[in-house]
Amino acid sequence: MSEHDVKSAVVAATSFEEIKAWNEVGDNILVGVMLPCPENASAPFFHCFPEDEGWPDLERLEAEILAGRVHALHEVLPSYSDISPNDPRLDPYFALAHQHQIPVGIHTTKGPPAGGRFSIRDGERCCALFNGEMGNPALLRPVLERYPGLKVWLQHVGAGRGEYGPFWPETLDLLRDYPYVDVDLSITNGVMPMTQYEAALAHLISNGFETRIMLGSDGVPMQRILERLNSLEWLTPKQRSAILYDNAHRFFASAK
Ligand SMILES: [Zn+2]
Repeated sequence: MSEHDVKSAVVAATSFEEIKAWNEVGDNILVGVMLPCPENASAPFFHCFPEDEGWPDLERLEAEILAGRVHALHEVLPSYSDISPNDPRLDPYFALAHQHQIPVGIHTTKGPPAGGRFSIRDGERCCALFNGEMGNPALLRPVLERYPGLKVWLQHVGAGRGEYGPFWPETLDLLRDYPYVDVDLSITNGVMPMTQYEAALAHLISNGFETRIMLGSDGVPMQRILERLNSLEWLTPKQRSAILYDNAHRFFASAK
């Protein structure tokens, strides 16, 4: 982190042991919890929270939040289990996040395609239930109505090509209607073609959302992401600073 002057980072823990381990790394780590864990086609069926079949125990999770060891729900992955973000099984987790004012990062895109790089879908056994249509941001509307002010960020905005192309109208409409919703461009900023990344960023900014874009890496090397961001000469210093730090600093202010 010091190599690129990273002030803080949000990670996705996949077990209660990992929550503990990440907290020991330092104060500049915000610990998120990945859920629900996608079910694999063969054993081991769950690579995260296996003792709870992919759904971390709510009481234990709340205790971790109250102890200041869990600071976000992230990544929330409904499409990997073919459920809507509005599925009743997810509701208690959103209620918890709303009650304790912790942000929720949601995997929203049609992808990744099976075998997609930098994703858990590159494993052959992963997630037979996967349904990209459940990554549509419009499906979040009932959740946002039920929990006013719930801080949600849409992950991987602008990612995907061809039949896995982005949900642009639904994304922009959601940002317009819900001022607490932000985005990250992880995968788009590191893996998609540079022209697609640039167009996605320009699309968000021209629609008035430059204060809602946060830097995301999703495990792609930070060096590559920063090089690509810094190569965009039309970005103003203020816009660059907003994407690199200011927007996330504001968004996560209540989290830790
Ligand atoms: Zn994701």
